[in-house]
Parts: sequence; structure tokens; C-alpha cells
Amino acid sequence: MFYHVQKLINEIVPDEPDPAAANALQEGLGGQFGEMRTMMQYLFQSFNFRGKAQPYLDLIQGIGVEEISHVELIATTINRLLDGSPRYQSKSPTDTVPGNGATPLNIALSQGNIQHFLVGAQGAMPVDSTGNPWSGSYVYNSGNLTLDLLYNLMLEATGRLQKCRLYEMTSNKTARSTISYLIVRDQAHENAYAKALEILGVNWGNVLPIPNFDATRFPEVKKLMEQNVHNQQFHWRLDGSEMSKIFQGTSPSRDGELNVSEKSPAGFPVTAGAARVEEFSPGLTPEIQELIEKIAQLA
Ligand code: MN
Ligand code: MN
Repeated sequence: MFYHVQKLINEIVPDEPDPAAANALQEGLGGQFGEMRTMMQYLFQSFNFRGKAQPYLDLIQGIGVEEISHVELIATTINRLLDGSPRYQSKSPTDTVPGNGATPLNIALSQGNIQHFLVGAQGAMPVDSTGNPWSGSYVYNSGNLTLDLLYNLMLEATGRLQKCRLYEMTSNKTARSTISYLIVRDQAHENAYAKALEILGVNWGNVLPIPNFDATRFPEVKKLMEQNVHNQQFHWRLDGSEMSKIFQGTSPSRDGELNVSEKSPAGFPVTAGAARVEEFSPGLTPEIQELIEKIAQLA
């Protein structure tokens, strides 16, 4: 079972809305190599785990639990990038009022995915950057531990590759804060699966990280790597974990020592988005709002 803390795993830096960047980030959420895939793949591999290899189960499941928080982080980032973008682009506050002759959602007609404004209310969707719905067929779980670990490493490397490309697409601070964090965590997970295979006899030589690019050339990534975020792992267990039997020693990327933290991260505050009149969201009349406030005030 899983417990829950209403915090974000990393801080989202505020900036102007940017619906094009939001749509690009959809690939990192619901794409074939996105966070929904890593989350579901590692959780299914841990649910279906066989045999006596507890440290391997703890490693895969611990990373799977972290991926839940990555799904939350990137979805919230997409929300921030979409939220208020019609108002921002029109520059006129009266344009956001429905029924006054204006077209407050006009920008939707020229966006990467009209469904961000038409089906949802300026929020993230479980789709990729071209609007294809996320698919369970992306999930790889052969039941063969070595094969699953190899595929997991390929998945993290492709994630890091795509996030480095995303970084090059936008200078928006909201987008970059999350992209940079995920680049660094993808490297940590590359290290984790590479280490797990190293114990089984693989010698990585100079192959890792993939892509073989010094990500400290991205300033936001450099800051995180100076804090050693690429060599750290949380196990998320309240009842003890054997993850550290694998995730220790020299990093397979040859840039530091791997370390499992017993303590979970403190997290960063997260607040719900503001009401969007033009989307009829959440669409509460003053009477309904009053009923909700009464419930909220209950001791
Ligand atoms: Mn991730
Ligand atoms: Mn990962």
C-alpha cells in the first residue's frame, strides 16, 4: 500500500504561461518514454516480481514510487504553463468573460493541442505531444530480471535524451525547472539500473551516462548536480528497504558515490489552480461555493 504527502518532489519556478512548451512537455508525461510509462513499468515489474532477490525488488519498486511523484510534478508543470494563457495572450481582462461578445478561448484554435482548452480546462492530459493517448502497451515486463533491468536502463536513457532536447526548445523558467530536475533524476535511475546490472557482471566502461553529454552545461542542471541529486536515491519505505545493497559505491557514470537516503525528502508546497471563468472551471455558483465553505470550516 502507499501513503501520500500533499507536496511536490521539486519546486516549480514561476514564469509566464507558455502553451507551446506545455504541449512539448506532454511527451515527457504521456509519451512512449514519459513519466507515466516509467511509473507503470516499474510498478508492474514489482507487482509481478518472482524469486528471492529482495534488493532488486526494493530498487525497482522504490524507483517506481518516485515516478508517481514525477508524474505529479510534470502534470503540475503543464498546468502552470497552460493556466491563464488565453488571458495572457489577449492582454485584456474583459476578454476572459464568456458571453460578452468576445472570444476568450480564441488562442485554442492555433495551439498544439486544442483539447488542452476544449476537452480539459487548461490542464495536463494523459497524452503525448501529438495528442496520442498514453497506452498500457508501452509497459515492458518480461518477467526476466536481467531483460527488465536492461529495458529500464534504455527507458531512463531515452527519457534523459528527450528531456535534454526539451531543454533546448524553451527558456521558460517553469518548464526548465522541471525538465532540469528530471534530467538529473533520469541519470540517477540510469545509475541505479546500471549498478544493478554491474553486480550481475556487466562492465559499462565509458558508455554511461546516455546520452554521453555533460549536462552541467545546462545551468539549472549544474546546480542540482552540485547538490549530488544524480547520485542519490530515496527508498520511500516506512518498513525498511534493501535498496542500498545495490545503490552504493562508485557511480557507473564515474562521477561520484551512490547513496540511499533513509529520510524521505521534505517536498515543496503545492496549491490548486485558480478558477478559470472562461473554462467554466470549477464552475461553482455563489450558493454552491457557500456550501463548500461550510464544510471546509468543520472542526
Ligand atoms: Mn521519472
Ligand atoms: Mn526515472
